[in-house]
Amino acid sequence: MSTRKRIYIAYTGGTIGMARQADGSYAPAPGYLEQQMAGLPELRDERVPAYHIHEYAELRDSANMTPRDWTTIAEDIAANYADYDGFVVLHGTDTMAYTASALSFMLRGLGKPVVLTGAQIPLCEVRSDGRENLITALLIAAHQPISEVCLSFGSRVLRGCRAVKVNASGLEAFDSPNFPPLGRIGIDIDIDQRLLLPPPTPDTPLSVQPVDPTVRVGALRLFPGIAAATLEAVLGPLRALVLETYGAGNGPDHDADVLAVLKAASARGVVIVSCTQCLRGRVNPAAYATGASLARAGVIGGHDMTAEAALTKLIYLFSAGHDEERVRELMARSLRGELTAPS
Ligand code: ASP
Repeated sequence: MSTRKRIYIAYTGGTIGMARQADGSYAPAPGYLEQQMAGLPELRDERVPAYHIHEYAELRDSANMTPRDWTTIAEDIAANYADYDGFVVLHGTDTMAYTASALSFMLRGLGKPVVLTGAQIPLCEVRSDGRENLITALLIAAHQPISEVCLSFGSRVLRGCRAVKVNASGLEAFDSPNFPPLGRIGIDIDIDQRLLLPPPTPDTPLSVQPVDPTVRVGALRLFPGIAAATLEAVLGPLRALVLETYGAGNGPDHDADVLAVLKAASARGVVIVSCTQCLRGRVNPAAYATGASLARAGVIGGHDMTAEAALTKLIYLFSAGHDEERVRELMARSLRGELTAPS
């Protein structure tokens, strides 16, 4: 019997499989990725795992991804979970960090690698980074003892719920500024086993928490001079808001109207989570009076979570049926290694 590992590729869209249009722009084209892959002799090497490609009916530029697509991907993985050793999700880079975060939460009891990757340059171009990214993702999914959702791109393997897109044009498009890479891709693929989440117990089944696309969660970046009315208009229809605050979690506490809007929204049950606008570091509401005022208005600290992780976690928790109090509690706890609690 063959011991060659089997990998399921969920091809959702993105630059990696795009074709050049008559006007010079790139767009996804059905069947095109598979055709490109058929032209890569490396993929027939016996060291590369066997794979099956599931091309999604509607290939998306990831700018068009919605929470419904996260559920489609999670359920696709679950439906094929028993038959494959690992999973590669080919995805556009623009919202890959959101999908990686969402899947981290939605796939409960995950005991196999789920590796998201894509490309900055399509496979059809001579300088495509997609070839390396794809082969590396297949090898990681087949051979690494990973029980979590990760994002492999360029020279790094990152925890999915810690990743952010940091470069619109460079080939090192992703980073996880508040957590070390799970692995480095060089001559070898070096995974730091100490950083990985522990595997679930062997009899834990994989289960999917679908997300409810009607849960109204938003994100807003504070800026100098933001009007209370703007904040109120944003908060109006929401159940939760990721508020991107300054530095260690600070906001304009000399504006009594802004504070009153935040306080009223928190009092009626809107969960407002503060994440820093800075790329690195954590929210510490007690550090400054301007942060403490937000905390008194009911804003909770998002520790060192990325805004992507905070947003998808809120959607996940409300979709799972938790009430506001429980959501507030769970936002402060690490569920999949998405935050580091202060020591
Ligand atoms: N707009 C593309 C997408 O996110 C960009 C990419 O894949 O790199 O689908």
